[in-house]
Amino acid sequence: MELRFTNSRTRTKETFVPIDPKNVRMYVCGPTVYDRAHLGNARPVIVFDTLFRLLRAVYGPDHVTYVRNFTDVDDKINARAAESGRTIAEITEETTRWYLDDMAAVGALEPSHMPRATQFIPQMVAMIADLIAKGHAYAAEGHVLFAVESYTGYGALSGRSVDDMIAGARVEVAPYKRNPMDFVLWKPSSDDLPGWDSPWGRGRPGWHIECSAMSYDLLGESFDIHGGGNDLLFPHHENEVAQSCCAHPEGGFANVWLHNEMLQVEGKKMSKSLGNFFTVRDLLDQGVPGEVIRFVMLSTHYRKPMDWTAEKAGAAERKLQGYLGRIAGTDMEAAKAQAPDEQILSALADDLNSHAALARLDQIEDAGVLAANLVFLGLWTWDGMEAALKGLDARGDALRPLADLLAQTRANAMQTKDFSEVDRLKSALVAAGVEVRMSKAGVELVPGPEFDASKLEGLL
Ligand code: AMP
Ligand code: ZN
Repeated sequence: MELRFTNSRTRTKETFVPIDPKNVRMYVCGPTVYDRAHLGNARPVIVFDTLFRLLRAVYGPDHVTYVRNFTDVDDKINARAAESGRTIAEITEETTRWYLDDMAAVGALEPSHMPRATQFIPQMVAMIADLIAKGHAYAAEGHVLFAVESYTGYGALSGRSVDDMIAGARVEVAPYKRNPMDFVLWKPSSDDLPGWDSPWGRGRPGWHIECSAMSYDLLGESFDIHGGGNDLLFPHHENEVAQSCCAHPEGGFANVWLHNEMLQVEGKKMSKSLGNFFTVRDLLDQGVPGEVIRFVMLSTHYRKPMDWTAEKAGAAERKLQGYLGRIAGTDMEAAKAQAPDEQILSALADDLNSHAALARLDQIEDAGVLAANLVFLGLWTWDGMEAALKGLDARGDALRPLADLLAQTRANAMQTKDFSEVDRLKSALVAAGVEVRMSKAGVELVPGPEFDASKLEGLL
């Protein structure tokens, strides 16, 4: 199967050719762990999890390595510790656990490796020392800075020229910088801040160096795919390229760069700093199931901005309940043996066209195949689906006496030719969110997503 992706580096849609099909390697920038993930943070997780699933299906589950880091050293974390009186370790450990729980709830598989920045400080120090030795970085006043002028490729990824960047920069330039665009690899830590000994004194890394050091350690000097939100393209990814390509000129760093567009609120990026965010946990606590969040996310192509709306969530919930209704009673063991649908795979192979992949679900006739593809797309795990089906069953059981009553009333009405009581029962059921299926074979009542048992009281 041919895979094609839009590579931000070349700005074209290209055929994907892995460096080593026996070990397809992907790195995605992960969260800074100081707070609950907001819904925007879940977008790259769901997008790149879907890509991970596609790669596993195409190259084999043992032939894909997916790395997503945790940034657990950062000034936002330090600030959170200072204002809350808690330790940095408490905050980062708790937030990391929350993140894994919340992302599992939206169907994300765990990546093959989840390195924490604080576990890779020696690798970062070694890379920084190497950059200095190679003339790409310099130490000044306890800092180490990357010299952007030493790398002619600087700006190529994001399509900017260094001169334009300098002209556009409004930041006050630190006196120890040779060039205003030079960025921090290492900075000094005062005693109250986390710090590690280094050749440049006690300090801590800048943000960008961790991804270069961890991807090199876990994936090598060249790997296949680098992902993240498009808000990271500049400066973060540009700086990763500069660091990695200068430290390891023998490699090409990432071949294919994929960037998801932003989740928005009223036309603006959802972000912590704008305060226009709600967390994944907020939604889950309000009763929006993880599969609904995932379905809504995958309904929009990853390269397009999108909004979260209650309407989209409602429509997704009805659609998923409909699928569950179709799957109810299917042999689940047989379903587990079904492979992903070819058309779903080819939709995803076309630059991750998840919208088309979801649309294909409606055309699948076999309930077992439908179940297998819902699981493949991460909308449910098998266990999660079975639990959801049990919930559906339990609600169906509650309706059984009413189904009998309706069947009996209909049989009477056939005799008397007076269907008013049948109509009254039917309207009451529909008003309670029940789908009424009447055929020669009998009466079937299926609880819909809006099902409200309290509205049925007094009917029996
Ligand atoms: P952060 O913790 O802010 O560094 O973000 C972690 C990941 O979430 C990065 O890949 C960001 O690009 C991504 N991200 C942040 N905000 C949004 C958003 N509103 N929509 C989509 N992705 C986002
Ligand atoms: Zn990164």
